Amino acid sequence: MDILSANNRLAERNRGYFEGKQVLSLNMVSSPGSGKTTILEKTIRDLIATRKIFVIEGDQQTARDAERIEKSGAPAIQINTGSGCHLDAKMIHLALKKMEVENNAILFIENVGNLVCPALFDLGEHKRVVVISVTEGDDKPLKYPYMFQSSNLCIINKTDLLPYVDFDVELAVSNARQLNPDLEFILMSSKTGDGMQEWYQWLGKQGT
Ligand code: MG
Ligand code: ZN
Repeated sequence: MDILSANNRLAERNRGYFEGKQVLSLNMVSSPGSGKTTILEKTIRDLIATRKIFVIEGDQQTARDAERIEKSGAPAIQINTGSGCHLDAKMIHLALKKMEVENNAILFIENVGNLVCPALFDLGEHKRVVVISVTEGDDKPLKYPYMFQSSNLCIINKTDLLPYVDFDVELAVSNARQLNPDLEFILMSSKTGDGMQEWYQWLGKQGT
C-alpha cells in the first residue's frame, strides 16, 4: 500500500531524529475516554521536576487536551485531524518543526482515540502504549488485535471501578497475551494513583 509505505519512510526519519536527540518517544493509543490525557497530566506533575517532557496531542477537533497538558506544566502542541481518525508520521514531522523537543526528553504522542487505524501508522515512536479502561469490555484485545499486537505496554486503567463493572482483568490479560506474548501490563487508577509508580519505573527503564 502506497500510503503506508510513504508513512513508514517518514516514520524512519522521525525515529532517526529522536535517536539523534536521545528523545524517548511514546505513542499513546486507546479508545476515546480511556483516560490517556489524565494519565499524562498526572505523569507530568509528578515527573517534570526531574525529566523534560513534551507532548503532541491528536484529536479531530479542539485544543482542549493540549490546554490541559500545558496547565500541568509541559509544552504541548495540538494537531487537529479534522475528519481524519489517526495521526501519521508526516503530522509528527510537521509538529516537531513547530515545537523544539530538547535532548534527553520524553515525548508523549497522544493519538486520536481509536483502536483501529492508529495501529497501522508508525509515527517513528520507540514504544507504543495501549490504554484500556475497565469500563470497556475485557474482549477488546480480541476485537482489535492489531493494536494489541503492535503495542509494547498495555495500561489497564480505572481499576478503582472494578467493583462496579464486569471487567475480568485476568481474562483481558490472557486475551491480549494470546495475540502478543511479549506485551507488558500495568494495572492503574490514575484517579487513586495506583500503578503510577510502576508506570514511572517502566518509563525509567526505556532506552532511546
Ligand atoms: Mg485525550
Ligand atoms: Zn484513521
